[in-house]
Amino acid sequence: MVDYLLSWGEPYNRLVDVQLRFTAPHDNPRLILPSWRPGRYLIQNFAANLRSWSGNLRKEEKAVWRCEARAGEEVTVTYRYYAGVLDAGSTFLDADELYVNPSNLLMMVDGLRGEPSTLTIAAPADWTIESQLPQRDSAFSPPQRGEGARGADEGFTLLARDYDHLIDSPIIAAERMTRHSFVEGGARVYLILRHDEGIDSEPFVEPLQAITRVQAAMFDGLPFREYRFLGHVGDRWHGVEHEDSCSLILKRSALLGAKPGDEGFDHTLSLCSHELFHAWNVKRMLPAVFLPYDYTREVPTRLLWVMEGVTSYFGELSLVRAGLWTQERYLEHLRKEIETLEGSPARLHLSLSQASFDAWLQEPTQTHDKQNSWISFYNKGEIVAALLDLTLRTHTQSTLEDVLRYLWREYASRGMEEDAFERAVATVSGEDYGDFFTRYVHGLDALPYDSVFEPAGVTFGMTGRDRLALGAKLRSDAGTLVLEAVVRGGAAMAAGLLPHDELLAIDGVRTAAEADVRRVLGSLHEGEGVEVLAARAGIVQRRTLVPQRDPRPSVTLVAAGASDLRDQWLRRLEE
Ligand SMILES: [Zn+2]
Repeated sequence: MVDYLLSWGEPYNRLVDVQLRFTAPHDNPRLILPSWRPGRYLIQNFAANLRSWSGNLRKEEKAVWRCEARAGEEVTVTYRYYAGVLDAGSTFLDADELYVNPSNLLMMVDGLRGEPSTLTIAAPADWTIESQLPQRDSAFSPPQRGEGARGADEGFTLLARDYDHLIDSPIIAAERMTRHSFVEGGARVYLILRHDEGIDSEPFVEPLQAITRVQAAMFDGLPFREYRFLGHVGDRWHGVEHEDSCSLILKRSALLGAKPGDEGFDHTLSLCSHELFHAWNVKRMLPAVFLPYDYTREVPTRLLWVMEGVTSYFGELSLVRAGLWTQERYLEHLRKEIETLEGSPARLHLSLSQASFDAWLQEPTQTHDKQNSWISFYNKGEIVAALLDLTLRTHTQSTLEDVLRYLWREYASRGMEEDAFERAVATVSGEDYGDFFTRYVHGLDALPYDSVFEPAGVTFGMTGRDRLALGAKLRSDAGTLVLEAVVRGGAAMAAGLLPHDELLAIDGVRTAAEADVRRVLGSLHEGEGVEVLAARAGIVQRRTLVPQRDPRPSVTLVAAGASDLRDQWLRRLEE
């Protein structure tokens, strides 16, 4: 047994005191802090936020400490963790809340990974706590308190099967939270929200239940008895999946006043649907290289597009099955995804499986020219999943849902080999889909939109744009207009502009905002060079900008005429 205790004194210094108590499994065991967390395939170096550890710990590697102890000895170690960032995978301390993603701050005792553990949060007794971890509800004697600890009668103790279960479990302990719940398929599902002032969350409950019903039907039951959507309303969208819960950040500006059918409302549901689908895909069937997770280093897999893209595909399709989205609404969503992919220069050099494998290299501060070098395996993965599903439906008796059900039967208790998905498609369909994978997953062939959508009564169109474009992503920054990214093949790149250049004027017209750029471009002629003024490192540069048409295509995707195949593909779940 390993006992963890989180306590704190002054909340606004954002320092959480962590205490571990355990019996040393051998002499001088190592204590290891994860360098990444499942769900985000990127080294995040949580050790950077750790400070002032106890004297019996000696640091050996960037996230590894050696504990001075003899085998069998009862050991207590302490350290502090800075908890001042709030996202779906972080830890955040405030005056009325402690939100914890234990992967950030709880060290693993080498040799005790498989042992059960307790996690005590020394929060005031009148707070409430929400987590997928069961709570020890009987009275308990609190362990010794760290510096600045609260009264001895306060605290909540959670129980975990083992270290992996512990750190997969986000926790909200707070003075108050909004709480909804429903029962579906024998499971109780909670919607928990913080910072939701001014937002009516009740209207989300029924749609969430419909989505849960749809996904349960697909897999013939839910894989949990309880599930928690743990949400904070914040400044962006973000979600992270866990075994019996997920952590969400919902964008306040999109949610204020949002009604069913509005974009913010829809986005919330599609995010929840995506994370719920992960309860099967990723949390219970996952690549073999993740079993067990090595939290100390990168663990690349070519299957990330199946984990994320296929999840996005079924996440969105669940909204159709649940009767929340019409066929038209779904096709509009897919159209936007296709337009994003087809406007990405990197689609010409980076395959879907390579983007999956290289996920670990996408740290923005290290990946120069990300706008041109990277495609999202969520985005292309979802599109390829849709094309594969339609291809299966057109040419075989099977569907991609059959493939997922097959994977669920085969792989719920063991890891997926790198070619498991391809083999599952072949097994379930009885056909060889090697060519499809070679061309569209491992290769760079243009995706076969026309031939795949046509049998389903869906008309696909892709055309160039007439309007002139700068070929750069702009950002307003303290009254200045800065180039955030420069698109390969666009006018800005041809003029020699770089990201971080400040755009001052085009053709003698001051450009202080994006609207100024649009206006001046509207007055120019394709191919006729004009002067552009930009500042780089404090020096004003004069360059020639030759206006070009926007290189990103315009995509249309619409239902045309009656189609049984389309109705079957985009059907509602029978009530
Ligand atoms: Zn995901």
